[in-house]
Amino acid sequence: MSQPDIPIPGSPVVPTMYDGSKVIQFSCHKGIGCWNACCANIDITLTPYDIIRLKKRLGLSSTQFLRDYTVPFEFEKDGIAGVKFRPVEGGTACRFMTPEGCAVYEDRPTACRYYPVALLSMRKQDEYTDTQSYALVEEAHCLGHQVARKLSIDEYRAEQGAVEYDELARGWRQLVLKKKSAGPAIGAPSLKSRQLFFMACYDIDTFRDFVTSEAFNKLFKLDEAMRAMLMEDDVELMQFAFRFLKQVLFGEKSIEIDEAAAQERLKKWQERQAKIEEEARKKREEYERMLAEEGIDEDASGLGYYPDDELDGSCKL
Ligand code: SF4
Ligand code: SF4
Repeated sequence: MSQPDIPIPGSPVVPTMYDGSKVIQFSCHKGIGCWNACCANIDITLTPYDIIRLKKRLGLSSTQFLRDYTVPFEFEKDGIAGVKFRPVEGGTACRFMTPEGCAVYEDRPTACRYYPVALLSMRKQDEYTDTQSYALVEEAHCLGHQVARKLSIDEYRAEQGAVEYDELARGWRQLVLKKKSAGPAIGAPSLKSRQLFFMACYDIDTFRDFVTSEAFNKLFKLDEAMRAMLMEDDVELMQFAFRFLKQVLFGEKSIEIDEAAAQERLKKWQERQAKIEEEARKKREEYERMLAEEGIDEDASGLGYYPDDELDGSCKL
């Protein structure tokens, strides 16, 4: 199932964009000549909701599922973490492909539900909400396009259960799009903010531990009913994770914080930054002294600054 990295724009497939009313001709059924061909060569990006459904289906924690069934990647090398299905050892087929079809059919990921339609989610720089349009992926091996069944893309999405999946992945899509459209002006995200994004989006069971931690609860005020709901319900926790990321990465406040604790945290962070900057200054002086002793002109050395990633403090948590 070779397909674009939905729902991310900029895919290698240059599509004709359609809206949901576009009528397509397609049907897939057991017995068709290409049965399983799409699952024999996969490139499937998973959404946070896909992971919740699959880890539950397999009786695994999110951490175990990520370790055993996925590989991490970055969307277009801009530091936004993504997760793809890991194919079978030494091959390209999906680990859930069986001669009878998909072994996790009821919980198959969004990309599998959509195929051969691709979801293209876009967001204008000055707007927060994303808009959806669609493209048709017509691969030569897929004979489903030759079956005379016509239906609209919206009907196909409903038939495949993709509507619920889209709705529950919306917060994640918005975060990814917003991160992407922030562009290089804001700079590459720090390691800490990348790790936070990965945990909150994909490793929901670790995120639950994080939400129960003393440090989290000192800073964020959650009432008991809310806390109980987050502890019990993965989907609620996932939606909370999206709100949490919008708040810590983009300053969009929707979770109440303890102002005194926030001030204390900010003070500690500033002290830490000052220490890091002082250390960087010392290293810089040492470096300049070393260049001077060796009679090397700094500009000619091609190194105009002393690199120190630690100075990136975009995430203060
Ligand atoms: S999850 Fe199921 S439908 Fe999706 S690629 Fe694997 S076998 Fe195919
Ligand atoms: S018709 Fe297309 S989607 Fe269905 S099994 Fe064949 S290749 Fe896969």
